[in-house]
Amino acid sequence: MLRRGVAAAVAVIAAAAVTAIATVSAAAPAPAPATAFPEDHRTLTRTISYAEMEAFLKRVDGTAGIEVTAEGRTAEGRTIYLVHASRGKNPSFRVLFYAQQHGDEVAGKDAALYLLREIARRPERLPDGIDLWILPMMNPDGAERGTRRNAAGADLNRDHILLEQPETQALHRVVRRVRPHLAVDCHEFTRDSEERSKRGWIAWPQITMDGLNNPLFDPAVVAAAERWVRESEAPEAAAGHSFLRYSVGGLPPDEEQRHSAPDIDGGLNAVGMYGGLSFIIEAAVRRGPDAPPDDLAKRVDAYLVLLRRFLDETGHRAQDLAAVEASRRRPPPRFVPTNYLWVNPDFTITEFPALELATGRTVRIPTANMMTKLAVKTALPAPRGYAIEPRAAADYALVLERHGIPFETLAAPKTVGAQRCDLLRLEEQFDDLYSRYEGRQIVQCRPAAAQELPAGALWVPLDGEAAVRAALVLEPAALYGVYQYPRFRRHAVTGEALPIVRVTVP
Ligand SMILES: [Zn+2]
Repeated sequence: MLRRGVAAAVAVIAAAAVTAIATVSAAAPAPAPATAFPEDHRTLTRTISYAEMEAFLKRVDGTAGIEVTAEGRTAEGRTIYLVHASRGKNPSFRVLFYAQQHGDEVAGKDAALYLLREIARRPERLPDGIDLWILPMMNPDGAERGTRRNAAGADLNRDHILLEQPETQALHRVVRRVRPHLAVDCHEFTRDSEERSKRGWIAWPQITMDGLNNPLFDPAVVAAAERWVRESEAPEAAAGHSFLRYSVGGLPPDEEQRHSAPDIDGGLNAVGMYGGLSFIIEAAVRRGPDAPPDDLAKRVDAYLVLLRRFLDETGHRAQDLAAVEASRRRPPPRFVPTNYLWVNPDFTITEFPALELATGRTVRIPTANMMTKLAVKTALPAPRGYAIEPRAAADYALVLERHGIPFETLAAPKTVGAQRCDLLRLEEQFDDLYSRYEGRQIVQCRPAAAQELPAGALWVPLDGEAAVRAALVLEPAALYGVYQYPRFRRHAVTGEALPIVRVTVP
């Protein structure tokens, strides 16, 4: 519902390019229609609710090349909506925006809905060459509660390996069906952390972004994503917003910071597994009583700068398209990296911006602890495939199916050359700096030897377009894998062989 007296004129979201303007005076407010959100996103003071989004989507469905479908249903029965918008006859560049995986991170969804409204009113706002897909609210149960997690208590952005939740299953189904050339995962972070204010700073950037970055991804696609990130600063500055490449970690100058995690259990790299450009955007939220009323509006505005660019910026599109198509035809990896980390290879001193609370000035704090490059510490020659013992076959079969990774179940025993890997330990301790280490698996692989795979074992060849995904999900020597999750813990016994073998001679 609209707040009384907020705006003199509000627009009612209307079908097609027709806009009905309802003028509401502060003296005699008409009951606000459930579908209304402010005409101008810069006056938005609270996020668009599930019900408002649903009513809006129903109105725009079938207009201006927009099609709205139900892609899934949550535990509490809400619909996970998918929007498709396309104008040209043969739109060649497929773009996917997905937002609000974390229910309390709202601006990406609001921005996506304003963008969709622009397209509904002026279809020419969507370039001919773009096939646009939007999952505006991936986690409606969390959104309604104002929580990060979904109704089942799951952090959806840590469910991209097992895909146990209907919300993440929906996203991956869409990705496999649409095969986006470019995907964007929309999040937010809390700007005014206690650690910062203790030092007299507030976080500088309004909005941050990073691209996919696992070492198994095609370097050409990773470089294209980094270019998008670099080139986002100027348009954000022109719109009055501060932009920084996304980073996490402690505070400068003494604590370590790094760019987004290379692991695949976050949406950014999980969608990146399918070979396209993939981004995370995080806008800075001011929470609490001191938050200015226009904070959400500013975040939405900053978001719109980036989302619109992904549609409008044609400068590198042909190159990006070619890079993604080539990456999807790449031969299987020759090596599988098992240990990789962020480093500062040249001992570069980075000037890290922060806003000084006392003066409001931007200060630049020098730090040599900003990790800028991903380095591979160890890699193993890629196997020909992976085999899964019958004792774990049912659990793995589900994961393989959900990732669209082809496999076969052996009808009869088969002798192969393979390496077994023993679990040395599973780390229980949680590390705050990395928000990681808990669940890290330390394994040792034995030399390859003849092994009999019993009937009922699963065979997953490392070839075809799913090879990178298979390596990322199955490699037993990877630092993070499925054993961090309760369902798979029982398959990982300290001192014993893991149920996956690396097959070197099929
Ligand atoms: Zn988030």
